Amino acid sequence: MKLLESIEALKSWQASVSVSTTGFVPTMGALHAGHLSLIEHSRADCQATVVSIYVNPTQFNNPNDLANYPNTLEEDLRQLRVAGVDAVFLPDYNLLYPDGFRYQVEETVFSHELCGEQRPGHFTGVLTVVMKLLNLVKPDRAYFGEKDYQQLSLVRGMVEAFFLDTEIVGCPIVREEDGLAMSSRNLNLTVADRSHAPRFSRILASACGDSEAVQQLQSDGFKVDYVRTIDGRRFGAVLMGSEERPVRLIDNVRVG
Ligand code: AMP
Repeated sequence: MKLLESIEALKSWQASVSVSTTGFVPTMGALHAGHLSLIEHSRADCQATVVSIYVNPTQFNNPNDLANYPNTLEEDLRQLRVAGVDAVFLPDYNLLYPDGFRYQVEETVFSHELCGEQRPGHFTGVLTVVMKLLNLVKPDRAYFGEKDYQQLSLVRGMVEAFFLDTEIVGCPIVREEDGLAMSSRNLNLTVADRSHAPRFSRILASACGDSEAVQQLQSDGFKVDYVRTIDGRRFGAVLMGSEERPVRLIDNVRVG
């Protein structure tokens, strides 16, 4: 597995391998079985698989959230080797943002709803970094999880709008045995919050309507950011933890 820490290294690796299809899985590290499922899809579909690990600061609107984002790089690389990944791209801020984030990709409608309403600028950071990564890696297919369904749909829309030559593949949510959607942020949950967290997806799935879900979540002790159903899919975000160490959980389930 090749570690690529510069654009030159990425380009010379690309020139050295002659593969018919490249799959790409962008991540922010702290890898878990959800990430690994995307890699499995890519490995099944494509001749070579590239994974990127980069905690993108431009998509964080809360400095505490960025500061507390888990970093498990050595263990991530071990898992990626075992998973049979061909190359790992490890860019840093100067590599990805030579413009200092003066140039940005903005979607003006859906990016302001759901997570975008609570996290202003979040999706501009996401779309900008994904555009940069797609232009550098030039994959035939890029794999995104339905766990971040709004992100998946905005990335799909961006690829269509800008005629990018990459197929965006959505992959199902991977859950813990107790139903909690896997997330790097789960590492930051206290033991008590971790055992309570699966109630979030259960209530999202079982409530009769969005306002009933909000009520049940609140009386269960969750701080609710939003619950909203769009086209038969109920989206939710809740906060757990303290103000200094907030843990934001998002999930979505099919309803009706
Ligand atoms: P992240 O490292 O959180 O930016 O996630 C990288 C990719 O993994 C994104 O496309 C996520 O949607 C996807 N992902 C994260 N958690 C899960 C999960 N539990 N199931 C499926 N995909 C996931």
